[in-house]
Amino acid sequence: MSMLIQQWQSVRQQCANLAAANGHAVTLIAVSKTFPAADIRTLYEAGQRDFGENYIQEWQQKCTELADLDDLAWHIIGQIQANKSRSVAERAHWVHTVDRAKIARRLSEQRPDTMPPLNVCIEINIAAEANKHGIGADELLPLAQYIATLPRLRLRGLMCVAKADSTRAELTQQFTRMQQLLAKLQTAGLAVDTLSMGMSADMDTAIACGATQVRVGSAIFGRRQ
Ligand SMILES: *Cc1c(COP(=O)(O)O)cnc(C)c1O
Repeated sequence: MSMLIQQWQSVRQQCANLAAANGHAVTLIAVSKTFPAADIRTLYEAGQRDFGENYIQEWQQKCTELADLDDLAWHIIGQIQANKSRSVAERAHWVHTVDRAKIARRLSEQRPDTMPPLNVCIEINIAAEANKHGIGADELLPLAQYIATLPRLRLRGLMCVAKADSTRAELTQQFTRMQQLLAKLQTAGLAVDTLSMGMSADMDTAIACGATQVRVGSAIFGRRQ
């Protein structure tokens, strides 16, 4: 069996064990950025369905190469420039990184009527880092309420990337805050159910704090160049 499949099976098992231990379902998103379409096909054939990509141009190419894989779900987890939003609206299943009204509006306008509404998460800059994408907690409710009015989007929840080199206590603090923000949206009457948080290094802490989707790259595919 290939190294790739072995690593994927190991992460999938870990994820399933953590989900069971914490009593909630967790979707494993295999983050395939920088790795070839052939690797995605290999994992798809082994049973993986959810894949995450950061760079739109790279993703478009893979999307075309893998167009025969019907029920593969593409999760866009990188920034979307306005001039690239159309292909995302036309081909993606999820966007995790919505952080402004303008991009939300474009995605909704460009989402074809023949497709189900595009699932979106709002990205939160959870440790208020200067160089990070995402919005602050104070901006969340207005943006969430705006997205909820857009006919071709379905607001699903929140996403974050934890601060690099956080201790476990700091990770717990950030992920718990995310859980509280999701609860705040639910209290405001929004039907959100998704917390996209946790990567190769912090998936365990994220799941313990309620992550429903983890985005795992290097632990599955190996180190990126
Ligand atoms: C690259 C990336 C991941 C995966 O990171 P790993 O540490 O390789 O698991 C997850 N989320 C986002 C937003 C990323 O850019």
